[in-house]
Amino acid sequence: MIDRYSRQTLFPEIGEEGQKKLGNSSVVIIGCGALGTVIATSLVRAGIGKVRIVDRDFIEYHNLQRQVLFDEEDIKDELPKAIAAERYLKKVNSSVEIEGVVADVNYANIERLVDGADLIMDGLDNLETRLLINDVSLKHKVPWVYGGAISSSGMTMSIIPDETPCFRCFWANPPSREMALTCDTAGVINPAPLVIGSLQSAEAMKILIGAREFNRELIVIDVWRGEFSDLKLSRRAGCPACHGEYEYLGAKFGTRTTSLCGQNSVQVLNPEAGEVSFKRLAKQLASVGKVSYNEFLLRFKVDNQEMVIFPDGRAIVNNTNDEALARGLYAKYIGM
Ligand SMILES: [Zn+2]
Repeated sequence: MIDRYSRQTLFPEIGEEGQKKLGNSSVVIIGCGALGTVIATSLVRAGIGKVRIVDRDFIEYHNLQRQVLFDEEDIKDELPKAIAAERYLKKVNSSVEIEGVVADVNYANIERLVDGADLIMDGLDNLETRLLINDVSLKHKVPWVYGGAISSSGMTMSIIPDETPCFRCFWANPPSREMALTCDTAGVINPAPLVIGSLQSAEAMKILIGAREFNRELIVIDVWRGEFSDLKLSRRAGCPACHGEYEYLGAKFGTRTTSLCGQNSVQVLNPEAGEVSFKRLAKQLASVGKVSYNEFLLRFKVDNQEMVIFPDGRAIVNNTNDEALARGLYAKYIGM
């Protein structure tokens, strides 16, 4: 144990004392894409006691350019990101309790997913779920570290309930449709999320050991231009979240179908589905199209459409941004 972390405990701000605190900490990483993979590898190697990694997606070739925990083998094995991350990181550090959870994070399950955590890490690609994290963070007084990266730029900020401004203090209005879809066109180069994810990890270490020098400002970087700046933010007087109104957690903005950022695909939720038997579903769909499945997901192709179904009944419909079409296909083949 001591050998493993010797370079980190030599760093005086952490030391043996800080290392112990890290070892007794529990962190939830929500979203395991570019940012989440950087954060997860950093925190598991640093010896955080418990790390839960939550992600709703499986791995595709266009992820490998920036999502540092995955490889081509994972794609061939059709692994969800949370499972591939868990398997790999358990080999990196077996002393950390690592749990991969394949799930869409929404108002119905977020409180359960972050239960017992000392810190929530944002590895997401969408504003709506961040606003949900913000609500749960403020309600249960669990700090979180926001991070976002797109194109060659990124932002990060630490949100400590009752101490710093919250995320909703500066996102006054719910995200518009257009804003939610910007990443479909913008692209991203990997240094942007690698830098932001690393800054988030450093914040995590500081917050978990109780260091007071965590980042209270919004850090904004551009890795292409080599720019690094910080914006001072203050609490917004009319911020609902800061006044105990948790609108996102209250499901006011909950949706059943979501167009997924940058993927040309739509997620369909079906909370009433219960546990889906892949064996039975495969049998049922085999006469209509091409079906394959493993223990984590079932892939179904019919005509030009492709659908991936998870054990909880959730589906991702590929090659479309049309939510109505996706819902229709789901109803037709899986049933609502
Ligand atoms: Zn606020």
